[in-house]
Amino acid sequence: MAQNIPELYGSLVFNDKIMRSKLPKDMYKALKKTIENGTHLELDVANSVAVAMKEWAIENGATHYTHWFQPMTNVTAEKHDSFISPTGDGQVIMDFSGKELVKGEPDASSFPSGGLRATFEARGYTAWDPTSPAFIKDGTLYIPTAFCSYSGEALDKKTPLLRSMDTLNKAATNMLHILGNTEVKHVSTTVGPEQEYFLVDKELYKERKDLVFCGRTLIGAPAPKGQEMEDHYFGTLKPRVSAYMHDLDEELWKLGIPAKTKHNEVAPAQHELAPVFDTTNVAVDHNQLTMEIMKKVADKHGMVCLLHEKPFEGINGSGKHNNWSMITDTGVNLLDPGKTPAENIQFLVFLMAVIKAVDEYADLLRISVASAGNDHRLGANEAPPAVVSIFLGDELTEVMKSIENDTYFTSHGAVQMDIGAKVLPHFVKDNTDRNRTSPFAFTGNKFEFRMLGSTASVANPNIVLNTAVAEALDQFAKELDGVAPEEMEHAVHELIKRAIKKHKRVIFNGNGYTDEWIAEAEARGLYNLKSTPDALPMWIADKNVELFTSHKIFTKEEIHSRYEIWLENYSKTINIESNTMAEMVQKDLLPSVLTYMEQIASTASMKTSVVPGISTESEAALLTKLTDLAGKMTAGLETLKADTAKALATEDVLECAKAYQSVVLADMETLRAACDEAETLIPDALLPYPTYGKLLFSI
Ligand code: ADP
Ligand code: MG
Repeated sequence: MAQNIPELYGSLVFNDKIMRSKLPKDMYKALKKTIENGTHLELDVANSVAVAMKEWAIENGATHYTHWFQPMTNVTAEKHDSFISPTGDGQVIMDFSGKELVKGEPDASSFPSGGLRATFEARGYTAWDPTSPAFIKDGTLYIPTAFCSYSGEALDKKTPLLRSMDTLNKAATNMLHILGNTEVKHVSTTVGPEQEYFLVDKELYKERKDLVFCGRTLIGAPAPKGQEMEDHYFGTLKPRVSAYMHDLDEELWKLGIPAKTKHNEVAPAQHELAPVFDTTNVAVDHNQLTMEIMKKVADKHGMVCLLHEKPFEGINGSGKHNNWSMITDTGVNLLDPGKTPAENIQFLVFLMAVIKAVDEYADLLRISVASAGNDHRLGANEAPPAVVSIFLGDELTEVMKSIENDTYFTSHGAVQMDIGAKVLPHFVKDNTDRNRTSPFAFTGNKFEFRMLGSTASVANPNIVLNTAVAEALDQFAKELDGVAPEEMEHAVHELIKRAIKKHKRVIFNGNGYTDEWIAEAEARGLYNLKSTPDALPMWIADKNVELFTSHKIFTKEEIHSRYEIWLENYSKTINIESNTMAEMVQKDLLPSVLTYMEQIASTASMKTSVVPGISTESEAALLTKLTDLAGKMTAGLETLKADTAKALATEDVLECAKAYQSVVLADMETLRAACDEAETLIPDALLPYPTYGKLLFSI
């Protein structure tokens, strides 16, 4: 990597520096206003930006442009148009107008809409999101856009995310004004998503139908070694992995993605990448791009990057930690305890708002991370349980208790007491958290939501978080409205006292992986929505529909469409897994078992023909075992096929998903047990696919 990194960084991004140098001053100012305040963009400004963008893109080797968007699938979508425009004399010019920049009209009929768009109204449109910078990838100018139906309903993840950021901005700014902090004009949310992934050899990958079609292994006996030696986490990087990571960093940096930390994770062949945080919208786009580039760079290195939440049974799966906070346009992190009592009051109000939001909308947070893949992790003693609770740390928990009980907080460690006229305790940042079992942990100056799976966009959890916190702040604002400045501290004290009494049940500082906690959580009345079909019905519960519609994040129709899309997606995912497994067993593994049995049988009969009366005990024993397993595999296969057909034919979307969850998944487990046992008896040379040992330890 001989290149100058600062020069390389963002070299493929139409960033502020490029905009300033390429745009006339007044146009630049108008665009900045749109980006910062969300004001309407006039067509002359759009035209001017389009010209600058096109020039810059062509200078950097681009020939095409695309509106890049995030439909309700798990991937991003793009349709490329070239800049060429025939001039009528057999020549072309390179052309790109403001109208083309601002709006596109892709055919929307083949994207999931959950019944929002009748097929005769197949048109959808994409609208430029100027708050996320355009970039160049593979000779094409990528323009981040929102994707809506022709009548304006959101068909994507960006539209509601932008709406939720706007809602939170309004609620948070209003609260700051009430607290007397009138300087602040804007509050953004910030996100830093830590991304886990696996790397496997490409040639081995190709030999596994389950990895190719499902992204996870459906059968496979454990390797002799797993993660029990705890020698992979933060371990030395193998040369092939290290070369990959270097290349990956460089590609990400070119796109202005601030990749910062990389290390080996707990499971063999598992790794993690974390960027420096950014505003939520940009962080979401960057995470999508990061996942795509991870796969692309792996391919160049003869490897495949697995982003599935549970590629291998018996070792950890992959998640994504959503580090989240709020920042003012004056540069203050609202979840930073701060140094003065006034800052502390502010901090406590925002902290309490998050606690209230998480308690009241824990079901939505659970749903925001629900998928067939992530169901394998949550509650599996490697990831947080499906119960949403908050880790606050001892210090802050004490602070909250002292407010609740009107007792003075006795200082220990870094904590300072502010006795006297002041009601609220004054304390400084607590840095002691290292509780890794909590789904939602306060980590000094931000919250870390740890239930996310590695594959999904981080948009959903942030839509929920932004909206729920906005709602909590709005409710607090009503309680504090009209309070005189000199009464404010007392009023805040009383407000927090009321709120903590009501919401303290969601705070849990202990080990979230234990059965005792699950029992206690139930006693506390917290949700334990174990699987996706268990969780999703809460999405359309009245209180949640009320939350989203009152904040104008989703219309009722949009809420229902998402409910259907997610349920369908769940069922389809398991249907594909079932089909894949059936094919692997029927066409690959069962024939291997039969071949091996034939070899054993002929060995035994040849032996006795050469030496009559010789013992064939070991052949007979092996043959008996394999016969038994082959029988179980055949029976399991028939059951799986029949139950899958039944599930597939279930009309009601929820009932269908439940059938896949409770019947088909269970069938797959039963079948897998027989397959995995057979695998341990068959010589590697006869196995139709590479073992866990090869997949996990060959790089
Ligand atoms: P750890 O999770 O090990 O404590 P760090 O504290 O370094 O690691 O942060 C992890 C992630 O949190 C990084 O992506 C970092 O940029 C992000 N982060 C740090 N501060 C904030 C913030 N105020 N808002 C959002 N994300 C943040
Ligand atoms: Mg972390």
